[in-house]
Order: sequence, then structure tokens, then C-alpha cells
Amino acid sequence: MNKTALVTGGSRGIGAATSRVLAAQGYAVAINYRNNAEAADALCEELSSSGVRCTTVQADVADESQVLVMFDAVEDALGPVTHLVNNAGILEQQMTLADMSPERLQRVFATNVTGTFLCCREAVRRMNAGGAIVNVSSVAAKLGSPGEYVDYAASKAAVDTLTIGLAKEVAGRGIRVNAVRPGVIHTTMHADGGEPERVARVAKVVPMQRGGQPEEVASAIAWLLSDDASYITGTLLDVSGGR
Ligand code: NAP
Repeated sequence: MNKTALVTGGSRGIGAATSRVLAAQGYAVAINYRNNAEAADALCEELSSSGVRCTTVQADVADESQVLVMFDAVEDALGPVTHLVNNAGILEQQMTLADMSPERLQRVFATNVTGTFLCCREAVRRMNAGGAIVNVSSVAAKLGSPGEYVDYAASKAAVDTLTIGLAKEVAGRGIRVNAVRPGVIHTTMHADGGEPERVARVAKVVPMQRGGQPEEVASAIAWLLSDDASYITGTLLDVSGGR
């Protein structure tokens, strides 16, 4: 079977590392992004130059019509999506819940929750010959992220519950659904929260005493997608240095 992976937010950070490892493992790779076409194009060029079938697809995963167009575009370019990585996610400025506006809550939940739900829905509607999905959650789902972003943490808890429920819904159709829960990982996402050096600060309370690299999350995602994980579904795999 031809393997076609769609990686949402596949152009930067953990998503880019995932796109690279899947490309190296023989998948055709569709790199989704929202705004930064330059990063997506550069990565696609890099992968294509080593012979990988690759395409970029702009879409806001929080918007149903854009998600439908994205799946159609990937299918036209590379064939039906057989593997989906729901990696696109956002957080906003660190603050307590007392200061959070309803607009912010809507933005965070729209991308992290609605976006993941819509992409999962579209994938399982189309995966008629089986498939695999990995959702990128966070250890924040169990830690709660007090004083930083409890909205983000709660959105990831929703992703965990979606993973458990959907896995049971579609197991009989040969579709596996799992999640990874990264800890602090070296990406630029922390700057969006207003603390670019957050990984160095939090690393002190990580049992392994360091932040993780995007590649360390990517290899866990690739393993869960692969046939090596053929009897695993509905699992939440922490990739967090013991935190
Ligand atoms: P990142 O470096 O900020 O990259 C985010 C990616 O998501 C970018 O490709 C971005 O596209 C895309 N994106 C954001 N909103 C989108 C939307 N609505 N529709 C489509 N694409 C969208 O993030 P990261 O640190 O790699 O995080 C990736 C995932 O891991 C997220 O789900 C995050 O919550 C999770 N995670 C990260 C950490 C960590 O420490 N970094 C820890 C736990 C979990 P543009 O380039 O166009 O902006």
C-alpha cells in the first residue's frame, strides 16, 4: 500500500521533524501550514530534492471548509491520506485564567480542539482501507499549566479524550488512533507564550534534566504510525523525559 502522511503544522518545530522522519521512512508527505508558506516550501523543497513525494497545503485546521479542501488537495497530489498526524497547535501569552478573554479561549480551542476533531473526522471518513492517526497532545493535559496557560492544558486534555474515544469507534475498521504527549521541547512555540527560554527554566524539574528535541517526539510519532505498533490503539504516550 502507498503510504501518504498528512502532517498538520508540518512545516516547523515538531511537525517539521515528523515530516522529515516520515519522508525518510518512505511515506509521501503532505505538509500543512497556516501562515508561513516560506517554511513549508523550504521543507518541501528539501524533501523533494532527495526524491520524496511531497506537497504543501495551506489550511487553517479550525475551519471546516479549509479542512475539506486540504484533504481533497492532498488526495489529488499524493493519493488518499493513509496516515494523519494532528500536530498543529497553539498557545498564547502566559497568564492566569483570571485574565483570559473569551476571544483567546476561542482561538486556543478552535485550533487545538476543533481543528484536531475536524481532521480526525475527515480522515476516518476517508480511510476505507484502514489507517493510523497520531494526535499531538501534551503533558500539560495532566499537569494543568497553572499560571501559564490552563486553556492550552485543557485543550490537550480534550485531545486525549478524543484519542481514547475515537480509537474505540474505529478499531473495527482497521484504523488506529493514538497520541503522544510531549514535555518541554526545543521549538519556537515557547516564544508565543512570552518566554523564549522556557525550556531551559523547566528543564530543571524534568527528571532527565533537559528539554527534548523535536526529533525525539517525531520518532515516537513515526513508531505509533508504523506497523510495529500494530496492536496499539487508544494509547497516550508521554515523551517528556519522565515528567
Ligand atoms: P510550532 O513550532 O509553534 O509550530 C506550529 C505549527 O503549527 C506551524 O507549522 C504552524 O503553521 C502550525 N499551525 C498553527 N496553527 C495552525 C492552524 N490553525 N492550522 C494549521 N496549522 C497551524 O509548534 P511546536 O512546538 O512544534 O508544537 C507542535 C505541537 O506539539 C503542538 O500541538 C503543541 O501543542 C505540541 N506540543 C509542543 C510542546 C513544546 O514544548 N514545543 C510540548 C507539548 C506539546 P505556520 O508555520 O503557518 O504558523
